Amino acid sequence: MEDKDYLKDTEQAPGQDAKQNPGQDVQNKNEDKEQEYDRFCFLCHRPESQTGKLITLAQGMAICPDCMQKTMDTIQNGNIDFSKLQGINMIHFSDLQNMLPRQQQVKRKKPKEEKAAEPAFDIRKIPAPHRIKGQLDEYVIGQDYAKKVISVAVYNHYKRVATGTQDDIEIEKSNILMIGPTGSGKTYLVKTLARLLDVPLAIADATSLTEAGYIGDDIESVISKLLAAADNDVEKAERGIVFIDEIDKIAKKKDTHHRDVSGESVQQGLLKLLEGAEVEVPVGASSKNAMVPLTTVNTRNILFICGGAFPDLENVIKERLNQKSSMGFQADLKDKYDNDPDILSKVTLEDLRNFGMIPEFLGRLPVICTLSRLTKEMLVRILKEPKNAILKQYQKLLALDEVQLEFDDGALEAIAEKALERDTGARALRAIIEDFMLDIMYEIPKDDNIGRVTITREYIEHTGGPLIAMRGVLKLEDQSAAQG
Ligand code: ADP
Repeated sequence: MEDKDYLKDTEQAPGQDAKQNPGQDVQNKNEDKEQEYDRFCFLCHRPESQTGKLITLAQGMAICPDCMQKTMDTIQNGNIDFSKLQGINMIHFSDLQNMLPRQQQVKRKKPKEEKAAEPAFDIRKIPAPHRIKGQLDEYVIGQDYAKKVISVAVYNHYKRVATGTQDDIEIEKSNILMIGPTGSGKTYLVKTLARLLDVPLAIADATSLTEAGYIGDDIESVISKLLAAADNDVEKAERGIVFIDEIDKIAKKKDTHHRDVSGESVQQGLLKLLEGAEVEVPVGASSKNAMVPLTTVNTRNILFICGGAFPDLENVIKERLNQKSSMGFQADLKDKYDNDPDILSKVTLEDLRNFGMIPEFLGRLPVICTLSRLTKEMLVRILKEPKNAILKQYQKLLALDEVQLEFDDGALEAIAEKALERDTGARALRAIIEDFMLDIMYEIPKDDNIGRVTITREYIEHTGGPLIAMRGVLKLEDQSAAQG
């Protein structure tokens, strides 16, 4: 101890005040930063904000009053034989506490008065639904109905969060169920939304979730992910978005005699999260274990969006519609709905129940929106229109080498046709483009004289090459254009 004091004296020259000493500043800053993070009880791992003031023992180890009391009781009951402890090398607990990495520490909640002065969400700042949709339009092509439904749901949700309604008329939570084929933009829509609203987003896969205690992630791990996405800031996480993909995979299994730990039980487990509950989650890890601190997150204001392709749902809907239309005076042709591309949009709660979703679960997802299968025209638009369209990205890359990259209409259609064959929606586009762009990106920089490359249908279908124009030719073209 004395040694350290001596060191301090020598570090600071006499007469030098703290402002002149940059080292001191850094130390103060570090201390400020430490203040932002909660301390944890060394024994039960709960944060100080929950346990009440921690009691600091020797060498920086801190425990909460409850654990202190329990320890005292144990000692008083005489359950510990101190004579046996002799000879055991004592552990330096302070060392253990310093071992907690930053990702396992939770930011302190701001005191209440500060919060009242500056609300986290200003109701006037939440963009109106048409503005949210307008922004989504810049990135997501088509899917107008889904974009509209989501914009309104999100607007209402955050309005509810901002006003914090606690009065008689409680606005219900607007969790969303999104139904649409693979690669139609479900995840992309949610990602874009979270980015535009600047809220943390966690994406989880329903297939990896199982009832607690079984192999797989337990259900509360989705909240852990959200906390990590919010930099362990509990307040930020509490108004984030959780997207649970592949929700159709947790449909109730039919004809099974075993316990359905990854299907119906997961739906049951999700109920309380969707509705709003206080959950204890491990910080910086996906499972609770002895060395990981815990914190409590309230899911009341978290927006849950569940998405899935529901592959057999179309048949369930068709069956219902066909049954209806073949009865009575207005009997229709039996196969009227067989080739309806928009069949998913006719989904009802009854269909989803027949598919295997339990009514309580559906009850907590009051907003249902469907996305349509992408058509050839939509795929072509996805290639070139969004703000960060794939083609724009390649054009920018080649522009850095002062080469113009162009795609003629035939080429775009050929790419879209190939993508349609793969039946994975827009997901196939990138793979197809990367495939043929590899050669272009490899060959073009070899020759400095190349000024423009035009990709043609023949090149995509491997029956011809791209059109190449030399810089000299481009110059001549420019001149004649200017004269003409
Ligand atoms: P899923 O519906 O299976 O969740 P994704 O959202 O992951 O599909 O889509 C895969 C990729 O396809 C996205 O990253 C995005 O680039 C692109 N994409 C899909 N649909 C659209 C769309 N409607 N508009 C623009 N891009 C889209």
